[in-house]
Amino acid sequence: MNMVFKICRMTGVGACILAYQLAFGAPRGDTLPQVAQLVHTRLDISFDYPHHLVLGKAWITLQPTQEQQDSLILDAKSMQVATVALQRDTGKQLLPFSYDGWQLRIKLDKRYSYRKAYTVYVEYTAMPDSLKTTAAGPVQTNKGIYFVSAGKDSTGQLYQVWTQGETSGASSWFPTIDQPDQRSTSEISITMPAPYISLSNGVLSSRQQHPDGSHTETWIMSDPHAPYLFMLAVGKFEKYHDSWNGMAVDYYMEPGYIAYAKEIFGRTPQMIGYFSEKIGYRFPWPKYAQIVVKDYFSGGMENTSATLFGDLLRRKPRALIGDEEAKWIIPHELFHQWFGDLVTCEQWSQLALNESFANFGEVLWGEYAYGKDAAHHHAYEAMLKYFQQCREGKDHPLIYNDYREESQLFDAVTYEKGGCILGMLRALVGEKAFFGALSNYLKVNAFKAVNANDLRTAFENETGRDLKWFWDQWFYRKGYPVLDISYRYNDLESSVAVTIRQEQEEDIFILPLKIDIYTGGETATQEIIVNRRLQTFIIPYPNKHARPLLVNVDADKQLICKKTDRKSLEAFIYQYRRGRNYLDRREALKACLLAQDTSARARAFLYTGLKDANDGLRKLVIQFMNIDNAAIRNTYAATIDSLARYDTEALVRQAAIKKLRSLNDPAYTNLFIRSLQDSSYNVVASSLIALNRLDRQLATRHMTPFLEDNEMASTILDIYLSNEDPKDNRSFLEIIARQNERQQQGYLVKYLRYLATLNDADTIAAGLEEFQRIVMGIDARFMDQPGMLGNLELLAEFKLDLIKKTASKSVRSSLEKQVASIRSAINHLSANMN
Ligand SMILES: [Zn+2]
Repeated sequence: MNMVFKICRMTGVGACILAYQLAFGAPRGDTLPQVAQLVHTRLDISFDYPHHLVLGKAWITLQPTQEQQDSLILDAKSMQVATVALQRDTGKQLLPFSYDGWQLRIKLDKRYSYRKAYTVYVEYTAMPDSLKTTAAGPVQTNKGIYFVSAGKDSTGQLYQVWTQGETSGASSWFPTIDQPDQRSTSEISITMPAPYISLSNGVLSSRQQHPDGSHTETWIMSDPHAPYLFMLAVGKFEKYHDSWNGMAVDYYMEPGYIAYAKEIFGRTPQMIGYFSEKIGYRFPWPKYAQIVVKDYFSGGMENTSATLFGDLLRRKPRALIGDEEAKWIIPHELFHQWFGDLVTCEQWSQLALNESFANFGEVLWGEYAYGKDAAHHHAYEAMLKYFQQCREGKDHPLIYNDYREESQLFDAVTYEKGGCILGMLRALVGEKAFFGALSNYLKVNAFKAVNANDLRTAFENETGRDLKWFWDQWFYRKGYPVLDISYRYNDLESSVAVTIRQEQEEDIFILPLKIDIYTGGETATQEIIVNRRLQTFIIPYPNKHARPLLVNVDADKQLICKKTDRKSLEAFIYQYRRGRNYLDRREALKACLLAQDTSARARAFLYTGLKDANDGLRKLVIQFMNIDNAAIRNTYAATIDSLARYDTEALVRQAAIKKLRSLNDPAYTNLFIRSLQDSSYNVVASSLIALNRLDRQLATRHMTPFLEDNEMASTILDIYLSNEDPKDNRSFLEIIARQNERQQQGYLVKYLRYLATLNDADTIAAGLEEFQRIVMGIDARFMDQPGMLGNLELLAEFKLDLIKKTASKSVRSSLEKQVASIRSAINHLSANMN
């Protein structure tokens, strides 16, 4: 089938992590220089749930940052402002104001002198659903506060309300100066009906019961934090209480998920302790809570002391086994509590000071929890992700002043490359200096906004070294070195000439590198500095009479680069056995995989790779092994079968199943059936697809227990799509019908692709009726209507094309009927959508 469907523009915000590739945006804001600094924010909040309104009272205390301040501008989006007043000890004095739906301009009662604090009172109703955006992003991802239907209980319809401040959503639920370089202490009181509890920043200082059955919870944060990190979540949640050193560490989940809280979040106290010690700065906030909410559109958000997660962790633990995103998101968000929350990027162009650190925090936790190899594997995969983005033409400097929209900042440069740059810096200055500098950076800049030069100052103070060159090439310049490394041995002179050429088009890089020279006995290390386009380094043999067995350039293996290393296969194999780290082995296995079809030695060595201690490398070898080559298949099929059954890591079992299913060999039927019982859903999904390829009827029988299981929904729909069978129509639609709205949109597109494969006009007509019903049931604000209509148009065009190609009258007549029902669906939907 050669039909290309447009992908529905799924919603997503550049919140914190992992969903950053999805578009979002907000206007670059009023660039008037601010003349005031937030000091304290007190909020009294309640909600009109059915109408999605925030009923708020705000007391904002500010200090002028210049003399003679007589007016104030607050960001306040899509609100009705009832009252603006000056709050005095004696009462309120009304102040004149103007409001344009975006900013609140207040005339103060007099001229205030520098640092003379005053408090303004604002009574308002925020209407997030009416927010108009002028930016590229869809409204639903930058409106700051979200009302989500969360089923029913004996009290009636349940809701969840939760916020997303980054980048400028805070001012959609309270008036503030919505800039990352502002900071304020906070006191947030939330009044809500009985079944609900709340979570916000800081400590829960009081809980007050009201005669009407509602209650008010007040949260106090007595250290200042940036407005975009303010949060609240309200809903029917349960709390699992944990602790670290006497400090509360709580996990909030819906009642249906709370049983999994300990399994999902249980290592958090250990993580807090480890990070506190490693970076020499105790966890800075009075508590740490994590909450999982419904229908959040990103991975997680590091609100101060109260991280919020979405669907990624709203799953059974079985679905999280082998899920790489879920594995790293908890340490990522936690590390932000220091890097992002305690010290905060002063502008979004400096976002790397938040996100690069959070990605580096993942690696740091990985070293502790899973070992050095696993951490290095994670860091290396991150670098590959950055290269992938470069291939798409989207490279930019880590500190990126020229961005057009904020979504360009939430990407693999700011996150993945930035994390790797910190890894390089660590290798450059050494372990002690690196963590010493970080500790000082946090102490000097605690509760302040920072930029990349503050970080450089901390490292230069700690090391006494001028590091401008490092910052210039890695923080302020885009690109990466592309190296060609070659060797010429001269046994007469007892030396090896190592030639390094920088092949990238951009300027050359300065690269201090270590070269390890292996002679069989002791290993010698030589330090070099690569700083020209083409350089040759003459390195004497450590043992005059013996040519080295391996010369290993970039021995630390932390460098962000692409390289062609022209060493022999034997040298690579030696590197595998004797090299210092994970990447030594990965490079060697890659060399063997590249030579597997031509070299028996390389083929034989792959066995070692299948037994490597690192699961990522085992997976890599399975994935790239050319099993179509009979010699390889005969040698390794049994080993891969055994890995599919017994490997301890789900990633490896899954890779093995995928490899074996590519053989289409009925001999593996029993393996695939057995693997449907695997502890990881990822393995189950791959096994079900494998079984379906071998024997569709058998697969249908084994699919039954999974039909009701949402974790398997996507896999089952993929199977239906590949089967092209009208009998699956009903089940396809039933599965879509029970998904949340966001999921439904993606699956509806898949459904249209399925209809493209069918030739049964009656099934298609009936299916499209149901399709329309589901589309009309999705809240119009969350629906990509043009996208969905566009996909229907594509389906009609596809069928029209088939009509042109067919000679059979009866087929043509069926196709014409199909086109008629598609057209009817388009007309009906266009007429009823707004
Ligand atoms: Zn992050």
